[in-house]
Amino acid sequence: MNLADRTVIVVGGGPSGLSAAATMRNAGIGRVVVVERERQAGGIPRHTDHLGFAIRDLRRVMSGPRYASRLVDIAARSGVELLTETTVTDVSGTGVTLADGTAIHADSVVLATGVRERPRAARLVPGDRPAGVFTTGSIQQLTALHHRQVGRRAVIVGAEHVSFSAMSTLRHGGCETAAMVTSLPRHQTYAVLRMATATRYRVPIHTEVDVAEIVGRRRVEAVILTDGSRITCDTVVFTGDWIPDHELARRCGTGMDRVSRSPAISASFETSRPGVFAIGNLVHPAETADLCALDGRVVAPSVARWLMGGLWPHAVAPLAVEPPIVWAAPTAVGVTLRVAEFVTGRLQASVNETPVWTQRRQRFVPNRAIHISQTVPVGASLSLVRGR
Ligand SMILES: Cc1cc2nc3c(=O)[nH]c(=O)nc-3n(C[C@H](O)[C@H](O)[C@H](O)COP(=O)(O)OP(=O)(O)OC[C@H]3O[C@@H](n4cnc5c(N)ncnc54)[C@H](O)[C@@H]3O)c2cc1C
Repeated sequence: MNLADRTVIVVGGGPSGLSAAATMRNAGIGRVVVVERERQAGGIPRHTDHLGFAIRDLRRVMSGPRYASRLVDIAARSGVELLTETTVTDVSGTGVTLADGTAIHADSVVLATGVRERPRAARLVPGDRPAGVFTTGSIQQLTALHHRQVGRRAVIVGAEHVSFSAMSTLRHGGCETAAMVTSLPRHQTYAVLRMATATRYRVPIHTEVDVAEIVGRRRVEAVILTDGSRITCDTVVFTGDWIPDHELARRCGTGMDRVSRSPAISASFETSRPGVFAIGNLVHPAETADLCALDGRVVAPSVARWLMGGLWPHAVAPLAVEPPIVWAAPTAVGVTLRVAEFVTGRLQASVNETPVWTQRRQRFVPNRAIHISQTVPVGASLSLVRGR
């Protein structure tokens, strides 16, 4: 059998899935099907209506919705079959099962199901259960796709990049931000972005506190913080605190990273389940869309190699890390990692406690992507040597 006789199913039609599918078709794989549960493919960028997309993959600057439709176009022109409004409920190395029970055979499956923000219920926030509680993703969908007003005065839970993006979405929809709340000692976005919002919109950030309670009968009326303060608002937006859409990966029994809750992958995006690959923000929650699209390009030759009789790695496990590093995972351009606290130091890779390389000193910020382009040897552990 050659590549032209092979079928690959990609689960998820976001930037990573669409880019993988188009690249695999261009590499000569006969049938590539993208299965997407939404009415339209394109993933998160469909409702992220601002500029900044497509920089590293298409080498231009586009808005999220334009980028999404461009990726759909590229995939369609490459001969990719798009199956929308269709949910995959089970996966194996030999195909997928859809929600209506239909089984589709495939020689390989690529999981590209993305990431979402942990909603209120999963954060176990006490209090009433009124209307007016959202995530950034849900306010973006309400405003960009359904043109609805979210509320008038919001509290944003979180102070990382996406939290500031939530503030901007709220503003465009006519909702002021009363405050941001973070359990960390400082915000985690770029200083210039924080300065702009502080001087222009005068939004205070409450640090080292959590939401202790949400108050309101039908609609949110206030939040009470763990320091006892009360902020009047009609809207609460939970931001960040990413959770990969990992249910399918778990169901098909791939090894998982305990902290990021992503399937563990090799540097070529193989999971521990032969024939099943995983890419995009499912494996590194959460990176920008262009990096996810590059994952899609890089996985294509790995899938082709497997289809041509290539070997599957013997063992696939999460990259080993030491605190304050919380997790690390391969990407198309190296490795990405996250830390749990603000710290200055040098990243170090060691094998059997012997350093292989040490990077220059830098400042690490929680909830911010930290990229390594240096190779991390198989069996290495990543640590952080503190100090100025
Ligand atoms: C609220 C929010 C805001 C963001 N803002 C930005 C931003 O401004 N800029 C940026 O670069 N990145 C942003 N991101 C990161 C974003 O995740 C990436 O931009 C990019 O969309 C990730 O691509 P992906 O292909 O990995 O996943 P996604 O774009 O999430 O696509 C995954 C797709 O899989 C589908 N799917 C999942 N499970 C199934 C199933 N079982 N069956 C069928 N289909 C399924 C989903 O419907 C979805 O369309 C944001 C993320 C979120 C959540």
